[in-house]
Amino acid sequence: MSKTLAVNAGSSSLKWQLFDMPEEHVIAKGIFERIGLQNSLSTVKFGGETHEREIDIADHGQAVMLLMDELIHFNLIHDFRDITGVGHRVVAGGEFFNASTIVTPEVLEKIKSISGLAPLHNPANVLGIEAFQALLPDALAVAVFDTAFHTTMPEEAYRYPIPTKYYKDYAVRKYGAHGTSHMYVAHEAAKVLGKPLSELKLITAHIGNGASITAIKGGKSIDTSMGFTPLAGVMMGTRSGDLDASIIPYLLKNCPDLESAQQLIDEFNNKSGILGVSELSSDMRDLWAAVDEGNSKAILAYKMFVDRLKKFIAQYFGVLNGADALVFTAGIGENDTDVRSDVVGGLSWFGMEIVPELNVRGADGIISTPESKVKVLVIPTNEELMIARDVEKLKVEH
Ligand code: ADP
Repeated sequence: MSKTLAVNAGSSSLKWQLFDMPEEHVIAKGIFERIGLQNSLSTVKFGGETHEREIDIADHGQAVMLLMDELIHFNLIHDFRDITGVGHRVVAGGEFFNASTIVTPEVLEKIKSISGLAPLHNPANVLGIEAFQALLPDALAVAVFDTAFHTTMPEEAYRYPIPTKYYKDYAVRKYGAHGTSHMYVAHEAAKVLGKPLSELKLITAHIGNGASITAIKGGKSIDTSMGFTPLAGVMMGTRSGDLDASIIPYLLKNCPDLESAQQLIDEFNNKSGILGVSELSSDMRDLWAAVDEGNSKAILAYKMFVDRLKKFIAQYFGVLNGADALVFTAGIGENDTDVRSDVVGGLSWFGMEIVPELNVRGADGIISTPESKVKVLVIPTNEELMIARDVEKLKVEH
């Protein structure tokens, strides 16, 4: 038995889960928030208890040090060497990585070199990897890429219809994201449906703060809504999703507040989506509170959100030429019963119908009627487990 950490490092946060492998038993999990800011917060959960601690954490290195101290303090490990593997979520793997990979100095350099493909995420993922390598040099470090699952997309799906030189010389193409989650829920959906994944056509909808829709045929991603970066596709918490690229030079020319294309892209990444339209919050729960009060901006943001989801899902019925099931997952997909019923209700022509009594918060499994031609499922995602499994696999092969 060995212990494996699954790590998801963001720019100011670091989520972790400690597993006993290969038993897949979760020993503990937690999150560091507000790293680099004042009043950083560490939360550790195990055995039904939650331990919170407010403490200033300057950087990811200090967060990892604190994590190790806490794991020892709570008797969850006895020695740093108990942890034999650390799996890191890395958002962009570009065309380099079609599977999870042991982190070598060369691999780390490649991940850094493609930071432009996920500017919000890859630099933070690298900080996480380096912080753990410094403290746990003997543990096997593995990078698990959000893009790897999508490397099976056919060229007609991943290429943009722009001059070929931009693909050949600059690697501009669709890479997608959330691959680990789409792959996990596809496997779980096949179990629930009682059919081999190789025989299924699925549309998976990962709808959290970030959101993406994927068309999966025989277990392989054949199209997905995110693009060159995680900015593309459906409307999200703070991201615009798809836009007409002509907006960029137009606004740069006409809007005096804007000084650079980068500034505008930051607006599209961080200040758009539900936040930009509602002018209130990026969080769906806050949006609902405002919708319930009749706030017109919040109502518009909600309608736009559902509209974009319906369009992408409808598109993938076309890409797949029909589907066996639509699968909802992630924060909104798992919990928001209205989003599910509005999306499915608006696509009833495709042969989907939800049973209202089954469409409850935290549902797990089929929520559609027996007559529904396309089954509708809710599957809680578990990217951490997928990461731990990949570490285990590479440990065995190592
Ligand atoms: P990410 O991992 O991309 O940060 P999550 O998958 O955790 O995001 O999803 C966060 C989103 O899920 C937020 O918009 C949050 O409001 C929403 N969410 C969580 N719980 C609920 C709920 N009970 N009802 C509606 N939305 C919810």
